This record gives sequence, structure tokens and C-alpha cells, in this order.
Amino acid sequence: MKRLPLNGSEVYPVNPCALCVYAFALRASVALVSLLLAAPHLRAQNSILGFTPSTAEHEAAVETKFKSIPLPAEERRQHRIFTAEPHVAGSKRNNELAEYIRAEWKKQGLEDVVIREYDVYGTNPKSASLEMIAPVQYCATLREAPLAADPDSKNPNISGSWSGMSISGETTAAVVYAHSGNPEDYDVLRKNGISVKGKIVLVRYSNPYSYRGFKALTAQREGAAAILIYSDPAEDGYKKGKVDPDGPWGPEYHIQRGAITYDFMVPGDPLTPGWASVPGAKRIPLDQATSLPKIMALPLSWHDAKPLLENMDGPVAPPAWQGGLPIHYHLGGDRVRVHLKIEMDNSTQPYYVVEGRIRGAELPDEWIVLGNHRDAWAFGGVDPSSGTASMMEMTRALGQLAKEGMRPRRTIVVCSWDGEEVGLTGSTEWGEQFADELRQKAVAYINVDSATSGRDFHGQAVASLAPMLVETTRSLQDPSGKSLYEAWKATAARESEQGKQSGQVNDSGVARDNLADTRIGSGSDHTVFLNFVGVPVIGLQFDGPYGVYHSAYDDFYWMNHFGDPGYRYHTLMTQLWGVTALRLANADLLPFDFATYAENIRQFVNDLAKNEERIMWGQPPSAVRPGEARQLPTLDLKPVLDAIAAFETQGKRLNDSLRQALASGKLDPEQAKALNHGMMQVERNWLNPDGIPGRPWFKHILYGARFTYAHLELPGLTEAVEKQDWPVAEQQAEILRQALANNTKLLNELNARLDGK
Ligand SMILES: [Zn+2]
Repeated sequence: MKRLPLNGSEVYPVNPCALCVYAFALRASVALVSLLLAAPHLRAQNSILGFTPSTAEHEAAVETKFKSIPLPAEERRQHRIFTAEPHVAGSKRNNELAEYIRAEWKKQGLEDVVIREYDVYGTNPKSASLEMIAPVQYCATLREAPLAADPDSKNPNISGSWSGMSISGETTAAVVYAHSGNPEDYDVLRKNGISVKGKIVLVRYSNPYSYRGFKALTAQREGAAAILIYSDPAEDGYKKGKVDPDGPWGPEYHIQRGAITYDFMVPGDPLTPGWASVPGAKRIPLDQATSLPKIMALPLSWHDAKPLLENMDGPVAPPAWQGGLPIHYHLGGDRVRVHLKIEMDNSTQPYYVVEGRIRGAELPDEWIVLGNHRDAWAFGGVDPSSGTASMMEMTRALGQLAKEGMRPRRTIVVCSWDGEEVGLTGSTEWGEQFADELRQKAVAYINVDSATSGRDFHGQAVASLAPMLVETTRSLQDPSGKSLYEAWKATAARESEQGKQSGQVNDSGVARDNLADTRIGSGSDHTVFLNFVGVPVIGLQFDGPYGVYHSAYDDFYWMNHFGDPGYRYHTLMTQLWGVTALRLANADLLPFDFATYAENIRQFVNDLAKNEERIMWGQPPSAVRPGEARQLPTLDLKPVLDAIAAFETQGKRLNDSLRQALASGKLDPEQAKALNHGMMQVERNWLNPDGIPGRPWFKHILYGARFTYAHLELPGLTEAVEKQDWPVAEQQAEILRQALANNTKLLNELNARLDGK
């Protein structure tokens, strides 16, 4: 196994004694500027979005100091602490880790460190068994075999196979193979005369990917008695490459655990939709909880799925349904019969969110919120403990800066979430509890779930923050020796090329420097911030070949051999996360770019209208052939496009005015405060209090997620158009137009203020 050398990754090596001087200098003082002018390596960094030339110099010095603090050896030490034992949500170990974080944060110098308790409807396995009774007898192992090379894989505390929020039950039934378990797969079965009513469906995790909870809901709607979800070697196993312990892909026995909660309906505690599960909170009855599944579910390794698949009869499955096992996949029918029994303990239990902060020196009531979830299906080598280790080094570095007098201007709030894996639970409850305060104070939320499973950077941001995220990556050094920006660009270009070759649409915008992914779906803790509170979000992750997701093999051994040997990407994540937070925390004028936002929204509208002949732009198309009984277009999106253009005009004007104000170096603090508060309001204005049709919890009108977790732009409008429900589409288009008009008015007011009117 190749081991990569350690590297401190400082971009700007600086004499630490000089930094002590910077640390105690006043912002923008003459002394500081002259010192920096004498340091040419820092002068390169004299322009940062949102900063005046002099505050940018100071910011560069603070960032240089910050980047010098995290150490690969410390990242590894923290990673070992979090991956020493399995720590699923609600477990004793996970709660001990909450206490550990609280104690560490206090030592590191964080303030107001508290543990918040939420009494939520949790999920725990009691027992599960699966036995094939015909045509041959086979008892599924439902466990992961230890690997000789990996001591942690022998840990007796590793759970067997289970699906979070499965119901308890027992059934004996025939097994049908339903490919990926998406609705169109059941259509194929129907065409072949196969009903799944009362039967057990066996589905693959991917190809194409859909969230397992959507697979469970689909099986439930089809009337299946239970769903078994297995990992086919074509997707994350030996068909991809060498398997653990010799490579990063999933071995024969790996089980992808995971919850099937219908959190695409409403995330968080299923019994408190829209309000916090603080002790004593009111709760809805179980039978009214729309996010609770009503079906048994169990994940399987391919070792346990293979005997079922190879004994099935019925028609041969279509070519696209054939997987990586050396057998012919059949659709099944009645030949394979199994006895399945699942006993769960789903009941109310406490989850714990750890919260700490570095109080802002100048604007303590403006918050940059950072978060990572703590709970893992087993050890959580990648998911989430790589992110947790990066967070612990980030808080250590932030604490050290504060101790040395480099306190951020705004407050940085850091949270360790619980129960993300169950239903984005801890972050959702916290976000619901503090929604009003967050709407007043939150500038942005930066999420890191898994920090790294490889070297390929992926950054997500709402469009208004995309330019500042891209700019930030220019000041960080990738372990490859390039800047992170160059490394990101290379990754994006490669993926765009791969996308083109596989016939997918290439919209990554590499050529135009639009590297940040602005199409944000669900599936992690940013959801409550963006979709419920209306806080702009950023998400950061490095990834690579990774076949052990949510299995017991996602652990310390895997990380040290495949994911990030040397912990250089953990360290880089700490630097990136912290520097992004510091820029938002210290900016004179918040680095929002609403012209870019407008451009993105126009793209979303154009994508929606593509191939939809019942959408028009101001006038109906004239070309209806004689005699053709074609319905005229019904939805006119011209008013929306006009509203986007008006918003873009004000956004461009604001960009220019802000740039000029910053370049002048003269900013009135009251003026800056008013401008920043105005800009913070823009994201809140994208919320519709009624939510999107059918899903009132999801209030953002630009960003949503499909039931599969896939990103869904203009969710209310798009879903109405897809259903060809034109009255609702018209109403949703009007809501969008109105929000654009409100934000245009707001930006116009900010522009007038800058013009001194
Ligand atoms: Zn995660």
C-alpha cells in the first residue's frame, strides 16, 4: 500500500513571530499595512471579495495563521477517537462522544458550550432473521465477516443488518427482483405479468441511484410485504476494483445500513413536524406521522442476496437489470420463498446536539453557523468521522486565534449534530427551535458531512455564495501541489468529460469558472437551514473510490489505507472550512453576488421549459398545423423572465457599488451594517410560508429535493409542470415572480442607500 508523505500545507509560510505582531495590531492600522508591505508573500492576497484593501491584508494574515494550525497528526488522532467504536444515533457511545466534544471545545476556548437535548422518535434494532425456505434452504448471515488485516472489523459491538425506521413484523412470502426499486421498475414487472402484492421485493441500492427511503415508499405503495435492499458488486464491489482490505471497494459481506425515513416529506422527528422536540413538546399521533414508513426493510450484502437471486425463476431480467454477480438475473415469481422476521425498538429517546461558539468581537449578533453530524452507522470512518475530525481541528484553530487576539468580527457558531442518519434529526430540531433567531442573525451555514473519501473536491453553494467559495479555493493548497482551485478545476473538467462520454448533460460550467455546484438537493444537515429557515448554505467534500459506505468496513483502517492516508485532505478540509467561515465572519460587506443568483434562476427556468410545449414566453407559437387539435400553451413564463432580468440589473448594480465602496476603503459602520442586513434578507425572501404544494415544511421556492433526494430546482413550479397541473403551475410561477420582485425592490433600496439617496 502506498503511503503518502505528510505535509503541513501552508500556502503562505510566515514567520510565527511576525504573526504575533499581526495578532495584536488593530485592524487596518498603518503599522500593520507597512509590515505587510514588507512581506511580499502576503501582498499577493490583497483582494478578497467583501474586504477593503487594508482589511483584506489583515484577513490574509489571519488566514495564514489559521491555516498553519491544523496538523495531519492531530486530524488522525481525533479521527481515531471518533472511529474507535460504533456510535449510532442514540447509543451510549455516541452520547459519550457528545460529552467528549463539549469538554474539548471548552479546552479549545469555545464559548457558551452547551448540549441540547431533543426527545425524538428514534429507531433501534432488536433482532432480524431471513431464511430461504424454498426451493433450497439458506439462512442469511446478516453480518459482516471480520477482515484479518483490520482489527476493528472484529469488534463485537458492530451491529448486524438493519434499516432505520423499518417496522417490526414477520412474513413468509415469495421474492421478486425489482431492479432499483423505482416506480418505472414496477411497470416493467407489471408488463411481465408480475405483481408484488404481499410479496417481498429484492432491489439494488443504485443504478440509477435513489434514496433508500424512496425505494421503501415505492414498495409500500405497490403493496409489497417487505423490501430487501442489497449492494450489487457492479455498483460498489469487485466490478469496480479491488475490495477491502486490498482496495477501497466493498467486500462480499459489506452491508449498507441506512434509514428509510420518509424525510423527503418532512425531516426531523416524525412526531414534531415543524417544531422542536424539546422535552415536553407536543407530539402528533404515530398514525399521522407522514415520514414514518409502514413497511419492513432490511439491507443485505451480496453474499446474502446471491442465493436468492440465483434460485429465482420467471422471465430473464432486462439487460439493464443484470448486475455484477456471475448469474443470470431473473424477475422471480413464486419459486423463491423466504421467511423474514424483524423486531425493532422504535420509540422516543434523547438525541444530543453539541453547540459552541466564538463570540464575534464587533458584530456578535451576526452568525456564521458550521455543522457536522456525529452519529454513524458503525465506526463512520468516512461518514461522518472524517468530517468530525476536521471540525475538531477547525475549532482548535479558531480557539487558538481567539486566544491570540484574532477574534472574528461576527460570531461563529459550531454544532455537532445527532441523528443525521435517521432523518436529519438533530439539525432539523435545532433549526426549528432557533428558526426566528436564525432568520434574524444567520449569514450562512457551512455543512461538512463526510470530509473526505478521496482527493476530488466538490463544493456546493447557493448561487449568491458560489463566487466567494471559488475565490476562497484559490488561497488554499491542494496536496498535489496545485492550488485547490486548480485541483477543483481539473476534477470538474475530468468529470464533465466523463459525463459527456456517458451521454449526460454537461452543465458544470467549468469553462466559465462556475465550479460550484448550485443545484442543492437534500440528504444532509444543510436542509433545515436552506429549506425551512432560508439561510444560504455551502457544502464541502472531498471524495473518491468508496465502496464501504454505511458498512462496518468504513473505518480507521479504510481511511488510513485508501481514503486519506496521511490525513492531508482532512487537514485541507479544516483549512478550507475555517477560511470560508472566517471570510464570511470578517467581511466588511458580505460577499453575496446576486447577479450570479439571477443568472442561475434564469438557467433553472430555461431547464424547466426545455421540451415543454405548453410553456410560452409572452405569445403563443403560431405554428399549429391545419387540422391539428393541439392545445395552446397555457403557462406564460415571460413575467418571470422579466422579473429575473430586473433582479439581475439590481444585482449587477449592487456588485459594482459594493466593489467601489470597498475599493474606496471608506465604509461607515452603520451603513455597512444596514447593507449587510439587507443582503441577509434576500435568502429569507425566497421562502413561501405555505411551502411547496403537498410538502409545507419545504419553504424555499428555488431549491428543493425529489423523493429520491435528487436536487429539484423551482420545486413547486417544476412539480406542477411535470404533473401538467396548469392552475397550480400558474400560481407557483406568480409566487416566484413576486419573490423576485420583492428582492429586486430590496436590492434597489440598498443601491439607493449606496448612492446616498
Ligand atoms: Zn453523513
